[in-house]
Amino acid sequence: MKVLVSEVGPRDGLQSIQQQMATADKIAWIRALAAAGVREIEVGSFVHPKWLPQLADTPEVVTAALQIPGLHVVALAPNLHGARGAMESGAHAINVPIAASQAHNMANVRMSCEESIEALREICLARDALPGPHRPTIEVGIASAFGCTREGKVSEDWVMRMAVTLAEAGADAVGLSDSVGYANPAQIRRMFTRLISEIGAERVGGAHLHNTRGQGLTNALAALDVGITTLDASQGGIGGCPYAPGATGNIVTEDLVFMLEAMGVDTGIRMDGLLAARKVLAEALPGEALYGHVPDAGLPKGFSYADGSPIAA
Ligand code: ZN
Repeated sequence: MKVLVSEVGPRDGLQSIQQQMATADKIAWIRALAAAGVREIEVGSFVHPKWLPQLADTPEVVTAALQIPGLHVVALAPNLHGARGAMESGAHAINVPIAASQAHNMANVRMSCEESIEALREICLARDALPGPHRPTIEVGIASAFGCTREGKVSEDWVMRMAVTLAEAGADAVGLSDSVGYANPAQIRRMFTRLISEIGAERVGGAHLHNTRGQGLTNALAALDVGITTLDASQGGIGGCPYAPGATGNIVTEDLVFMLEAMGVDTGIRMDGLLAARKVLAEALPGEALYGHVPDAGLPKGFSYADGSPIAA
């Protein structure tokens, strides 16, 4: 069994912290992650620099990331304008975040859910107008799919209706995001199982999980158990949520890769390479807290990867 660990630290992590990472450091970090075997990285966001100055250099970062052989380069874009920028940059995939909660979506992208769905339709039409080889895949992550810090419970029926509408509007993949770390494993199983039956397994995107309440890896395992094979994670679990003080960011790439490999699930990623990338990250963001149990404790004696190769291979 194989799983795609999609690294979102350069986008989700860096947008949530105050420090601004230098462009050259971002590129060095992304190269180090790719050298560790990471095959997909969300490298930035095409939003106005007024909102996210930390990611203002996204076009340059995409250009550099596209030079890395074999790397699938993803960029986030919340609207048609951003998506056009992402298409011009040559990113292989565009991640369009649409929250299931009206309040979250309004705060996040200043549109109602319905306006965001309409924007997604326009983005897909713009994609279809490009010559074949230049068409990026359009992936939607339904944010606040498991609950919202502003609205509390989010209707599962509504999330599913949104997913079906988005797939019909032309999204290549629709995944579910636990943006604020509200999800529990039973909910993850139920919703992803339902998503697969509503839009078909081939259209189901990944699980995007935050570890705010310590459920991140458990939820990742629950998603894996029902057939989800793309899992987002961020190195060092960087980031956080402005609405949940003290919260950590995404699930930690290092811990996720360890769990999967130890279980016999092949990620293609090597821990020594990840630790080298973590060093690049730590040096580029002095004083920033990095999370993760495996980087602190080390790999267990006798550990081997899913493909049977030993630690220092
Ligand atoms: Zn996130």
